[in-house]
Amino acid sequence: MMQERRPHLRVALTPHCNFRCRYCRPGGEGYYENISDVLSKEELIDIISLCGDGGFRDIKLTGGEPLIRKDLEDIISEIKGLNKFNSLGLVTNGSLLYGRSKGLKEAGLDSITISLDAADRNVFLKITNTDCFLNVIEGIKEAINSGLKTRINCVLGKSNRDQLEGLIKTAKEVGAELKIIDVMNVNPEGNNWSNYSWNCCSSVYGKEIRITCGPQGGHIVFSPADTRYLH
Ligand code: SF4
Repeated sequence: MMQERRPHLRVALTPHCNFRCRYCRPGGEGYYENISDVLSKEELIDIISLCGDGGFRDIKLTGGEPLIRKDLEDIISEIKGLNKFNSLGLVTNGSLLYGRSKGLKEAGLDSITISLDAADRNVFLKITNTDCFLNVIEGIKEAINSGLKTRINCVLGKSNRDQLEGLIKTAKEVGAELKIIDVMNVNPEGNNWSNYSWNCCSSVYGKEIRITCGPQGGHIVFSPADTRYLH
């Protein structure tokens, strides 16, 4: 069943990132020393406040990599203090998350989405050009333990489609929702996902598929189709 998408405000706190994912920054332009050319906290809050006045009720903070910003907790706290938004989320690569989840939650963050395209450390390294797999996993666990609603996002393509089973297993183990971005020709009834007690709610090739995991109550969402990268 297609999930209804509510319009939300998406704010890139920085263009800079400590990863160099090959589908995003193929020229290796991921990391910059000089991060002074981003909007200040005050400028961001002014703009976000205006967007709140304009009717946005849900907001997601992203980048680049938003956790590069040392003032992220302050930004979140000030957005919360505006009292204009119903939900406040963060999209991150997770590598700098460990040690900050509790502070983010206390500042007012409701949910966190962590990009993870591999369940294997070496594949992760190949995709991101960064050897941070274990940091990301620890960050995900900590986010869940801190009470943040936590989702893993995976961009699934030719180079990592063999990671799907491991990612399902990882999501199940940590108790996170898993969202697969881009779709493949899935036949959930006929593959070994049943080994993990995943129950299919609907199955439409090229559309969104939601699969619910048993004991943990997590689920997988396949987003609307863009099969260009899969063939
Ligand atoms: S983590 Fe995200 S922003 Fe950073 S290089 Fe990878 S895809 Fe791009």
